[in-house]
Amino acid sequence: MVLGWLIRFLVVMVLVRLAWKFLTGFAQGATTRPQAPPTKTVALVRDPACGTYIDRSRAMTLRHNGVTHHFCSEDCRTGFQQGRRAAKGV
Ligand SMILES: [Zn+2]
Repeated sequence: MVLGWLIRFLVVMVLVRLAWKFLTGFAQGATTRPQAPPTKTVALVRDPACGTYIDRSRAMTLRHNGVTHHFCSEDCRTGFQQGRRAAKGV
């Protein structure tokens, strides 16, 4: 009975496939973690005001004595400017 074996084999294969799909789906669901952000190479610059490293393309800049400083926010930039001014004044 080759046909009987073939049918049984196919049925078993389908069951194994279903079980495998279920198990892998369950495993994936159980181990789903927030994916790490894509690591693309970005030029990082250091914010001298707060020390944070920021994406150069998104940083706020301030030229000071021919040196371009990068800041994460307007607050840091103004703070840095005021700090510089205060330091100069003293
Ligand atoms: Zn900052």
